[in-house]
Amino acid sequence: MSSTGVRAFALSSYDVPHGHELVVRSCEDCACPTSGARSARPDRTVHSGRPLVRSRDVLEMPLDSGHWVLFAPQGNGGVVVVNERGLDVFRQFRSPVAPRDLAGHDQEAVTQVVRRLAEQDLVHEPGSPAVASFAESRELTAWLHVTNACNLRCTYCYVHKSSDEMDTALAKSSVDALVDSALRHGFRALRLKYAGGEASLNAAVLLELHDHAVARCAEHGLDLSAVVLSNGVALSPRFTRDLRQRSIRVMISLDSLGETHDAQRPTLGGKPSAHLVMRTIDQLIERGLPPHLSITITSGNTADIASVVRFALARDLTFSFNFFRDNACTGDASGLRYEQQAMVDGVADAFAVIEEAMPPWSVLGSVLDRGQLVEPRRKACGVGDDYVVIDQRGQISQCHMELDSPVGHVGVDDPITAVRRPGIRNLLAEEKEGCRDCTWRNWCSGGCSVATFRATGRFDVRSPNCGIYKAIYPAALRLEGLRVLRFAEA
Ligand code: SF4
Ligand code: SF4
Repeated sequence: MSSTGVRAFALSSYDVPHGHELVVRSCEDCACPTSGARSARPDRTVHSGRPLVRSRDVLEMPLDSGHWVLFAPQGNGGVVVVNERGLDVFRQFRSPVAPRDLAGHDQEAVTQVVRRLAEQDLVHEPGSPAVASFAESRELTAWLHVTNACNLRCTYCYVHKSSDEMDTALAKSSVDALVDSALRHGFRALRLKYAGGEASLNAAVLLELHDHAVARCAEHGLDLSAVVLSNGVALSPRFTRDLRQRSIRVMISLDSLGETHDAQRPTLGGKPSAHLVMRTIDQLIERGLPPHLSITITSGNTADIASVVRFALARDLTFSFNFFRDNACTGDASGLRYEQQAMVDGVADAFAVIEEAMPPWSVLGSVLDRGQLVEPRRKACGVGDDYVVIDQRGQISQCHMELDSPVGHVGVDDPITAVRRPGIRNLLAEEKEGCRDCTWRNWCSGGCSVATFRATGRFDVRSPNCGIYKAIYPAALRLEGLRVLRFAEA
Protein backbone atom coordinates (compact mmCIF):
# COMPACT_ATOMS: atom_id res chain seq x y z
CA MET A 1 0.00 0.00 0.00
CA SER A 2 1.34 3.50 -0.76
CA SER A 3 0.43 6.86 0.64
CA THR A 4 1.17 10.18 -0.88
CA GLY A 5 -2.27 11.62 -0.20
CA VAL A 6 -2.69 14.71 1.90
CA ARG A 7 -5.00 13.21 4.52
CA ALA A 8 -3.55 11.90 7.72
CA PHE A 9 -3.74 8.18 8.26
CA ALA A 10 -2.51 5.52 10.63
CA LEU A 11 -2.35 1.77 10.05
CA SER A 12 -1.81 -1.17 12.32
CA SER A 13 -1.98 -4.94 12.04
CA TYR A 14 -5.77 -4.59 12.44
CA ASP A 15 -5.76 -3.14 8.92
CA VAL A 16 -4.10 -6.31 7.55
CA PRO A 17 -6.65 -9.07 6.85
CA HIS A 18 -6.19 -11.51 9.75
CA GLY A 19 -2.99 -9.56 10.39
CA HIS A 20 -3.13 -9.63 14.14
CA GLU A 21 -3.33 -13.42 14.20
CA LEU A 22 -0.55 -13.90 11.65
CA VAL A 23 2.17 -14.08 14.25
CA VAL A 24 4.69 -16.90 14.46
CA ARG A 25 5.88 -17.30 18.00
CA SER A 26 9.16 -18.93 18.88
CA CYS A 27 7.22 -20.95 21.40
CA GLU A 28 5.18 -22.58 18.65
CA ASP A 29 7.87 -24.84 17.37
CA CYS A 30 11.19 -24.28 19.01
CA ALA A 31 12.57 -25.61 22.20
CA CYS A 32 11.74 -22.92 24.73
CA PRO A 33 8.18 -22.19 25.81
CA THR A 34 6.83 -18.75 26.57
CA SER A 35 3.91 -18.15 28.83
CA GLY A 36 0.78 -16.24 28.12
CA ALA A 37 -0.71 -14.97 24.89
CA ARG A 38 -3.09 -12.13 24.37
CA SER A 39 -4.78 -11.48 21.05
CA ALA A 40 -8.07 -9.75 21.81
CA ARG A 41 -8.38 -6.36 20.17
CA PRO A 42 -8.07 -3.64 22.82
CA ASP A 43 -11.17 -1.60 23.49
CA ARG A 44 -10.10 2.06 23.62
CA THR A 45 -13.09 4.33 23.20
CA VAL A 46 -12.00 7.82 22.22
CA HIS A 47 -14.12 10.91 22.96
CA SER A 48 -13.18 13.66 20.56
CA GLY A 49 -13.83 16.30 23.22
CA ARG A 50 -11.55 14.80 25.89
CA PRO A 51 -7.85 15.68 25.90
CA LEU A 52 -5.24 13.06 25.11
CA VAL A 53 -1.48 13.11 25.50
CA ARG A 54 1.26 11.00 23.94
CA SER A 55 2.61 8.09 25.97
CA ARG A 56 6.01 8.07 27.58
CA ASP A 57 9.09 6.71 25.70
CA VAL A 58 7.34 6.23 22.34
CA LEU A 59 9.74 5.06 19.65
CA GLU A 60 9.35 7.06 16.45
CA MET A 61 11.35 5.75 13.50
CA PRO A 62 11.35 6.57 9.79
CA LEU A 63 10.15 3.69 7.64
CA ASP A 64 10.61 5.10 4.15
CA SER A 65 10.47 8.56 2.62
CA GLY A 66 6.79 9.02 3.50
CA HIS A 67 6.05 6.84 6.54
CA TRP A 68 7.03 6.43 10.16
CA VAL A 69 6.71 3.64 12.70
CA LEU A 70 5.44 4.30 16.22
CA PHE A 71 5.67 1.89 19.14
CA ALA A 72 4.91 2.38 22.84
CA PRO A 73 7.16 0.10 24.93
CA GLN A 74 5.40 0.91 28.21
CA GLY A 75 2.01 -0.16 26.89
CA ASN A 76 0.61 -3.32 25.38
CA GLY A 77 2.42 -3.09 22.09
CA GLY A 78 1.46 -3.02 18.46
CA VAL A 79 3.15 -1.08 15.71
CA VAL A 80 1.40 1.88 14.11
CA VAL A 81 2.48 3.23 10.72
CA VAL A 82 1.67 6.85 9.99
CA ASN A 83 2.15 9.06 6.97
CA GLU A 84 3.59 12.54 7.39
CA ARG A 85 0.20 14.03 8.17
CA GLY A 86 -0.54 11.23 10.62
CA LEU A 87 2.78 11.90 12.32
CA ASP A 88 1.77 15.52 12.68
CA VAL A 89 -1.45 14.43 14.41
CA PHE A 90 0.55 12.28 16.81
CA ARG A 91 3.08 15.02 17.53
CA GLN A 92 0.34 17.47 18.44
CA PHE A 93 -0.31 15.30 21.52
CA ARG A 94 3.00 16.45 23.03
CA SER A 95 0.82 18.37 25.43
CA PRO A 96 -2.79 17.45 26.24
CA VAL A 97 -5.26 18.38 23.53
CA ALA A 98 -8.71 17.13 22.54
CA PRO A 99 -8.81 15.41 19.12
CA ARG A 100 -11.51 17.79 17.90
CA ASP A 101 -9.23 20.76 18.64
CA LEU A 102 -6.28 19.53 16.58
CA ALA A 103 -5.16 22.09 14.06
CA GLY A 104 -4.84 21.54 10.33
CA HIS A 105 -6.68 18.22 9.83
CA ASP A 106 -10.17 17.17 8.89
CA GLN A 107 -12.05 15.43 11.68
CA GLU A 108 -12.67 12.17 9.86
CA ALA A 109 -8.94 11.63 9.36
CA VAL A 110 -8.18 12.65 12.94
CA THR A 111 -10.73 10.14 14.24
CA GLN A 112 -9.14 7.31 12.23
CA VAL A 113 -5.61 8.19 13.32
CA VAL A 114 -6.49 8.69 16.98
CA ARG A 115 -8.34 5.41 17.09
CA ARG A 116 -5.24 3.53 15.95
CA LEU A 117 -2.99 5.52 18.29
CA ALA A 118 -5.25 4.80 21.26
CA GLU A 119 -5.61 1.09 20.43
CA GLN A 120 -1.85 0.68 20.52
CA ASP A 121 -1.39 2.75 23.69
CA LEU A 122 0.44 5.57 21.91
CA VAL A 123 -1.87 8.20 23.45
CA HIS A 124 -3.89 8.24 26.65
CA GLU A 125 -5.95 10.54 28.79
CA PRO A 126 -3.74 12.76 30.99
CA GLY A 127 -3.06 11.00 34.29
CA SER A 128 -4.11 7.57 32.95
CA PRO A 129 -1.04 6.15 31.19
CA ALA A 130 -1.29 2.74 29.58
CA VAL A 131 -0.28 -0.10 31.84
CA ALA A 132 1.11 -3.32 30.39
CA SER A 133 -1.20 -6.22 31.09
CA PHE A 134 0.47 -9.59 31.44
CA ALA A 135 -1.54 -12.55 30.24
CA GLU A 136 -1.81 -15.47 32.60
CA SER A 137 -0.76 -18.77 31.09
CA ARG A 138 -3.40 -21.44 30.83
CA GLU A 139 -1.27 -23.83 28.74
CA LEU A 140 1.16 -26.34 30.19
CA THR A 141 4.09 -27.09 27.88
CA ALA A 142 5.96 -30.38 28.23
CA TRP A 143 9.19 -31.44 26.57
CA LEU A 144 9.05 -35.22 26.24
CA HIS A 145 12.51 -36.59 25.70
CA VAL A 146 11.38 -39.76 23.94
CA THR A 147 14.90 -40.89 23.16
CA ASN A 148 18.43 -40.07 24.17
CA ALA A 149 19.80 -41.39 20.87
CA CYS A 150 20.68 -39.27 17.87
CA ASN A 151 22.11 -39.74 14.39
CA LEU A 152 23.83 -36.35 14.49
CA ARG A 153 26.60 -34.98 16.70
CA CYS A 154 25.88 -31.25 16.81
CA THR A 155 28.64 -29.16 18.33
CA TYR A 156 26.24 -27.17 20.53
CA CYS A 157 24.02 -30.04 21.67
CA TYR A 158 23.12 -30.13 25.38
CA VAL A 159 22.37 -33.87 25.50
CA HIS A 160 24.85 -36.49 26.70
CA LYS A 161 23.64 -39.01 24.15
CA SER A 162 23.15 -42.75 24.68
CA SER A 163 20.96 -45.47 23.23
CA ASP A 164 18.35 -45.09 26.03
CA GLU A 165 14.81 -44.46 24.92
CA MET A 166 11.43 -44.01 26.54
CA ASP A 167 9.26 -47.15 26.58
CA THR A 168 5.52 -47.23 26.02
CA ALA A 169 4.64 -47.76 29.68
CA LEU A 170 6.69 -44.76 30.79
CA ALA A 171 5.39 -42.67 27.88
CA LYS A 172 1.79 -43.33 28.93
CA SER A 173 2.40 -42.78 32.62
CA SER A 174 4.19 -39.49 31.77
CA VAL A 175 1.11 -38.35 29.87
CA ASP A 176 -1.12 -39.39 32.78
CA ALA A 177 1.05 -37.43 35.20
CA LEU A 178 0.99 -34.37 32.97
CA VAL A 179 -2.78 -34.46 32.44
CA ASP A 180 -3.46 -34.93 36.17
CA SER A 181 -1.01 -32.16 37.04
CA ALA A 182 -2.45 -29.78 34.44
CA LEU A 183 -5.97 -30.33 35.83
CA ARG A 184 -4.83 -29.98 39.45
CA HIS A 185 -3.14 -26.65 38.69
CA GLY A 186 -5.94 -25.16 36.59
CA PHE A 187 -4.43 -25.38 33.10
CA ARG A 188 -6.79 -25.63 30.15
CA ALA A 189 -4.39 -26.81 27.45
CA LEU A 190 -1.43 -29.11 27.05
CA ARG A 191 1.32 -28.59 24.50
CA LEU A 192 3.65 -31.51 23.88
CA LYS A 193 7.07 -31.21 22.30
CA TYR A 194 8.42 -34.57 21.19
CA ALA A 195 12.17 -34.26 21.43
CA GLY A 196 15.44 -36.00 22.14
CA GLY A 197 18.02 -36.89 20.82
CA GLU A 198 16.25 -37.40 17.54
CA ALA A 199 12.60 -38.02 18.39
CA SER A 200 11.82 -39.81 15.12
CA LEU A 201 14.22 -42.62 16.11
CA ASN A 202 11.54 -43.70 18.60
CA ALA A 203 8.59 -43.08 16.28
CA ALA A 204 6.37 -45.96 17.42
CA VAL A 205 6.44 -44.90 21.08
CA LEU A 206 6.03 -41.25 20.11
CA LEU A 207 2.82 -42.05 18.20
CA GLU A 208 1.46 -44.29 20.97
CA LEU A 209 2.22 -41.57 23.48
CA HIS A 210 0.43 -39.01 21.35
CA ASP A 211 -2.66 -41.17 20.85
CA HIS A 212 -2.82 -41.72 24.59
CA ALA A 213 -2.54 -37.95 25.15
CA VAL A 214 -5.37 -37.33 22.67
CA ALA A 215 -7.62 -39.73 24.58
CA ARG A 216 -6.71 -38.41 28.04
CA CYS A 217 -7.08 -34.76 27.04
CA ALA A 218 -10.43 -35.42 25.37
CA GLU A 219 -11.62 -37.23 28.48
CA HIS A 220 -10.84 -34.17 30.64
CA GLY A 221 -11.63 -31.32 28.24
CA LEU A 222 -8.01 -30.18 27.83
CA ASP A 223 -6.93 -28.72 24.49
CA LEU A 224 -3.93 -30.53 23.02
CA SER A 225 -1.33 -29.50 20.48
CA ALA A 226 1.95 -31.19 19.59
CA VAL A 227 5.14 -30.72 17.62
CA VAL A 228 8.06 -32.99 16.80
CA LEU A 229 11.46 -31.34 17.09
CA SER A 230 13.61 -33.12 14.51
CA ASN A 231 17.06 -32.80 12.99
CA GLY A 232 15.48 -33.61 9.62
CA VAL A 233 18.02 -36.21 8.56
CA ALA A 234 15.29 -38.64 7.51
CA LEU A 235 11.54 -38.72 8.13
CA SER A 236 9.91 -41.64 6.36
CA PRO A 237 6.79 -41.24 4.20
CA ARG A 238 4.90 -43.43 6.65
CA PHE A 239 5.94 -41.43 9.73
CA THR A 240 5.13 -38.18 7.90
CA ARG A 241 1.69 -39.51 7.07
CA ASP A 242 1.16 -40.58 10.69
CA LEU A 243 2.12 -37.11 11.92
CA ARG A 244 -0.09 -35.38 9.39
CA GLN A 245 -3.08 -37.55 10.23
CA ARG A 246 -2.67 -36.55 13.87
CA SER A 247 -2.07 -32.82 13.14
CA ILE A 248 1.34 -33.03 14.79
CA ARG A 249 3.55 -30.23 13.50
CA VAL A 250 7.22 -30.59 12.64
CA MET A 251 10.13 -28.33 13.47
CA ILE A 252 13.37 -28.95 11.59
CA SER A 253 16.77 -27.52 12.51
CA LEU A 254 18.67 -25.95 9.62
CA ASP A 255 21.62 -23.65 10.31
CA SER A 256 22.92 -22.97 6.79
CA LEU A 257 22.56 -24.43 3.33
CA GLY A 258 25.94 -26.13 3.28
CA GLU A 259 29.30 -26.16 4.97
CA THR A 260 28.55 -24.34 8.19
CA HIS A 261 25.50 -26.50 8.86
CA ASP A 262 27.67 -29.55 8.11
CA ALA A 263 30.37 -28.29 10.47
CA GLN A 264 28.04 -27.65 13.40
CA ARG A 265 25.59 -30.50 12.69
CA PRO A 266 27.66 -33.45 11.37
CA THR A 267 26.32 -37.00 11.30
CA LEU A 268 27.35 -39.58 13.87
CA GLY A 269 30.05 -40.66 11.41
CA GLY A 270 31.25 -37.07 10.87
CA LYS A 271 29.64 -36.66 7.44
CA PRO A 272 27.73 -33.61 6.07
CA SER A 273 24.00 -33.44 6.81
CA ALA A 274 22.68 -30.21 5.20
CA HIS A 275 21.76 -31.90 1.90
CA LEU A 276 19.80 -34.58 3.78
CA VAL A 277 17.92 -31.99 5.81
CA MET A 278 17.03 -29.87 2.79
CA ARG A 279 15.82 -32.98 1.00
CA THR A 280 13.61 -33.86 3.98
CA ILE A 281 12.20 -30.32 4.08
CA ASP A 282 11.18 -30.51 0.44
CA GLN A 283 9.72 -33.99 0.98
CA LEU A 284 7.66 -32.73 3.91
CA ILE A 285 6.30 -29.90 1.77
CA GLU A 286 5.41 -32.37 -1.01
CA ARG A 287 3.68 -34.62 1.52
CA GLY A 288 1.56 -31.77 2.87
CA LEU A 289 3.38 -31.22 6.16
CA PRO A 290 5.41 -28.01 5.72
CA PRO A 291 7.82 -27.71 8.65
CA HIS A 292 8.87 -24.75 10.74
CA LEU A 293 12.63 -24.09 10.53
CA SER A 294 14.67 -23.44 13.64
CA ILE A 295 17.97 -21.68 12.98
CA THR A 296 20.56 -21.90 15.75
CA ILE A 297 23.13 -19.13 15.43
CA THR A 298 26.71 -19.62 16.60
CA SER A 299 29.92 -17.80 15.67
CA GLY A 300 30.12 -20.23 12.74
CA ASN A 301 26.96 -19.27 10.87
CA THR A 302 26.17 -15.62 11.63
CA ALA A 303 26.96 -14.84 8.00
CA ASP A 304 24.74 -17.67 6.72
CA ILE A 305 21.39 -17.09 8.36
CA ALA A 306 20.23 -14.80 5.55
CA SER A 307 20.56 -17.70 3.10
CA VAL A 308 18.43 -19.97 5.31
CA VAL A 309 15.82 -17.22 5.58
CA ARG A 310 15.78 -16.90 1.79
CA PHE A 311 15.42 -20.68 1.47
CA ALA A 312 12.49 -20.64 3.94
CA LEU A 313 10.68 -17.69 2.38
CA ALA A 314 11.00 -19.20 -1.10
CA ARG A 315 9.04 -22.17 0.24
CA ASP A 316 6.54 -20.21 2.37
CA LEU A 317 8.00 -21.72 5.51
CA THR A 318 8.07 -20.03 8.89
CA PHE A 319 11.33 -19.86 10.84
CA SER A 320 12.79 -18.72 14.11
CA PHE A 321 16.24 -17.67 15.36
CA ASN A 322 17.82 -19.16 18.47
CA PHE A 323 21.15 -17.82 19.64
CA PHE A 324 23.60 -20.50 20.76
CA ARG A 325 23.44 -21.05 24.52
CA ASP A 326 26.49 -22.31 26.30
CA ASN A 327 25.81 -25.54 28.21
CA ALA A 328 27.52 -28.22 30.25
CA CYS A 329 27.67 -30.66 27.33
CA THR A 330 29.52 -28.55 24.76
CA GLY A 331 32.87 -28.66 26.56
CA ASP A 332 35.03 -25.90 25.13
CA ALA A 333 32.45 -23.59 23.59
CA SER A 334 34.90 -20.84 22.64
CA GLY A 335 34.51 -21.73 18.96
CA LEU A 336 30.75 -21.27 19.12
CA ARG A 337 30.47 -18.02 21.09
CA TYR A 338 29.58 -15.16 18.79
CA GLU A 339 30.88 -11.64 18.70
CA GLN A 340 28.19 -9.07 19.31
CA GLN A 341 28.80 -7.13 16.10
CA ALA A 342 28.93 -10.30 13.97
CA MET A 343 25.55 -11.37 15.36
CA VAL A 344 24.02 -7.93 14.80
CA ASP A 345 25.35 -7.88 11.23
CA GLY A 346 24.10 -11.41 10.54
CA VAL A 347 20.63 -10.62 11.82
CA ALA A 348 20.63 -7.37 9.81
CA ASP A 349 21.42 -9.35 6.64
CA ALA A 350 18.57 -11.73 7.43
CA PHE A 351 16.22 -8.82 8.05
CA ALA A 352 17.18 -7.39 4.64
CA VAL A 353 16.07 -10.67 3.05
CA ILE A 354 12.79 -10.56 4.98
CA GLU A 355 12.24 -6.99 3.79
CA GLU A 356 12.85 -8.07 0.21
CA ALA A 357 10.49 -11.07 0.32
CA MET A 358 8.13 -9.88 3.06
CA PRO A 359 5.94 -12.71 4.36
CA PRO A 360 2.36 -11.95 5.43
CA TRP A 361 3.08 -13.14 8.96
CA SER A 362 4.77 -11.05 11.60
CA VAL A 363 8.34 -11.93 12.59
CA LEU A 364 8.09 -10.09 15.92
CA GLY A 365 7.58 -13.33 17.82
CA SER A 366 10.24 -15.47 16.20
CA VAL A 367 13.44 -13.70 15.15
CA LEU A 368 14.52 -12.13 18.44
CA ASP A 369 15.94 -15.16 20.24
CA ARG A 370 14.20 -15.30 23.63
CA GLY A 371 12.79 -11.79 23.25
CA GLN A 372 9.64 -10.90 21.36
CA LEU A 373 7.63 -7.79 20.55
CA VAL A 374 4.16 -9.32 20.37
CA GLU A 375 2.79 -8.83 23.86
CA PRO A 376 4.23 -7.71 27.19
CA ARG A 377 5.81 -10.56 29.11
CA ARG A 378 7.35 -10.65 32.55
CA LYS A 379 9.62 -13.65 32.00
CA ALA A 380 11.53 -14.92 29.00
CA CYS A 381 10.17 -18.46 29.28
CA GLY A 382 7.93 -20.71 31.31
CA VAL A 383 10.63 -22.35 33.46
CA GLY A 384 9.37 -22.88 37.00
CA ASP A 385 5.81 -21.93 36.02
CA ASP A 386 4.29 -23.85 33.14
CA TYR A 387 7.11 -25.84 31.59
CA VAL A 388 7.96 -29.45 32.40
CA VAL A 389 10.73 -31.60 30.91
CA ILE A 390 10.50 -35.38 31.21
CA ASP A 391 13.44 -37.50 30.08
CA GLN A 392 13.53 -41.07 28.77
CA ARG A 393 13.74 -42.45 32.32
CA GLY A 394 10.88 -40.36 33.68
CA GLN A 395 13.06 -37.81 35.45
CA ILE A 396 11.57 -34.34 35.63
CA SER A 397 13.69 -31.25 34.92
CA GLN A 398 12.93 -27.54 34.81
CA CYS A 399 14.61 -26.93 31.44
CA HIS A 400 15.79 -29.16 28.58
CA MET A 401 19.28 -27.66 29.05
CA GLU A 402 19.31 -29.00 32.61
CA LEU A 403 18.54 -32.68 32.02
CA ASP A 404 21.39 -33.59 34.37
CA SER A 405 19.75 -31.74 37.27
CA PRO A 406 16.39 -33.46 37.76
CA VAL A 407 13.92 -32.11 40.32
CA GLY A 408 11.61 -35.13 40.50
CA HIS A 409 10.29 -38.26 38.82
CA VAL A 410 6.91 -38.86 37.16
CA GLY A 411 6.53 -42.06 39.17
CA VAL A 412 6.34 -40.19 42.48
CA ASP A 413 6.03 -36.46 41.87
CA ASP A 414 3.41 -34.08 40.59
CA PRO A 415 5.31 -32.61 37.60
CA ILE A 416 4.25 -28.99 38.08
CA THR A 417 4.97 -29.05 41.80
CA ALA A 418 8.37 -30.55 41.00
CA VAL A 419 9.41 -27.85 38.51
CA ARG A 420 8.38 -25.15 40.98
CA ARG A 421 10.98 -26.37 43.47
CA PRO A 422 14.14 -24.28 43.94
CA GLY A 423 16.56 -24.56 41.05
CA ILE A 424 16.75 -22.25 38.08
CA ARG A 425 15.73 -18.77 39.22
CA ASN A 426 13.52 -17.54 36.39
CA LEU A 427 13.22 -13.99 37.66
CA LEU A 428 10.95 -11.19 36.56
CA ALA A 429 12.61 -8.60 34.32
CA GLU A 430 12.32 -5.99 37.07
CA GLU A 431 14.31 -8.26 39.40
CA LYS A 432 17.31 -8.25 37.07
CA GLU A 433 20.03 -5.67 37.45
CA GLY A 434 20.23 -3.63 34.28
CA CYS A 435 16.76 -4.66 33.11
CA ARG A 436 14.48 -2.96 35.59
CA ASP A 437 14.79 0.47 33.96
CA CYS A 438 15.19 -0.76 30.39
CA THR A 439 12.83 0.37 27.63
CA TRP A 440 12.55 -3.24 26.45
CA ARG A 441 12.04 -4.99 29.78
CA ASN A 442 8.45 -6.07 29.08
CA TRP A 443 9.43 -7.52 25.69
CA CYS A 444 12.87 -8.94 26.28
CA SER A 445 12.33 -9.97 29.90
CA GLY A 446 16.08 -10.13 30.38
CA GLY A 447 16.82 -13.25 28.32
CA CYS A 448 17.39 -16.93 29.11
CA SER A 449 18.10 -17.48 32.82
CA VAL A 450 20.30 -20.53 32.25
CA ALA A 451 22.46 -18.78 29.65
CA THR A 452 22.82 -15.71 31.87
CA PHE A 453 23.84 -17.85 34.83
CA ARG A 454 26.44 -19.72 32.80
CA ALA A 455 27.91 -16.47 31.53
CA THR A 456 27.84 -14.49 34.77
CA GLY A 457 27.24 -16.87 37.69
CA ARG A 458 24.10 -14.86 38.52
CA PHE A 459 20.43 -15.03 37.67
CA ASP A 460 19.62 -11.48 38.74
CA VAL A 461 21.42 -9.62 35.98
CA ARG A 462 20.66 -8.79 32.38
CA SER A 463 21.39 -11.17 29.53
CA PRO A 464 24.89 -11.35 28.05
CA ASN A 465 23.06 -10.75 24.75
CA CYS A 466 21.69 -7.41 25.93
CA GLY A 467 23.67 -5.32 23.45
CA ILE A 468 22.48 -7.51 20.56
CA TYR A 469 18.86 -7.34 21.68
CA LYS A 470 18.94 -3.56 21.96
CA ALA A 471 20.36 -3.34 18.43
CA ILE A 472 17.85 -5.65 16.76
CA TYR A 473 14.56 -4.72 18.46
CA PRO A 474 14.16 -1.40 16.61
CA ALA A 475 15.06 -3.08 13.31
CA ALA A 476 12.38 -5.73 13.94
CA LEU A 477 9.78 -3.02 14.62
CA ARG A 478 10.71 -1.45 11.33
CA LEU A 479 10.11 -4.79 9.57
CA GLU A 480 6.70 -5.01 11.20
CA GLY A 481 5.92 -1.52 9.95
CA LEU A 482 6.85 -2.58 6.42
CA ARG A 483 4.61 -5.65 6.73
CA VAL A 484 1.68 -3.52 7.86
CA LEU A 485 2.25 -1.05 5.04
CA ARG A 486 2.58 -3.80 2.46
CA PHE A 487 -0.44 -5.90 3.44
CA ALA A 488 -2.87 -3.33 4.87
CA GLU A 489 -6.14 -3.08 3.02
CA ALA A 490 -6.46 0.18 1.15
S1 SF4 B 1 18.62 -7.94 28.74
FE1 SF4 B 1 19.07 -5.84 28.07
S2 SF4 B 1 17.52 -5.40 26.49
FE2 SF4 B 1 16.80 -7.15 27.68
S3 SF4 B 1 15.48 -6.24 29.28
FE3 SF4 B 1 17.54 -6.52 30.15
S4 SF4 B 1 18.58 -4.52 29.84
FE4 SF4 B 1 16.77 -4.59 28.45
S1 SF4 C 1 15.84 -21.33 30.79
FE1 SF4 C 1 16.59 -20.71 28.75
S2 SF4 C 1 16.91 -22.67 27.63
FE2 SF4 C 1 15.58 -23.12 29.42
S3 SF4 C 1 13.47 -22.98 28.61
FE3 SF4 C 1 14.06 -20.95 29.48
S4 SF4 C 1 14.85 -19.73 27.73
FE4 SF4 C 1 14.84 -21.94 27.12
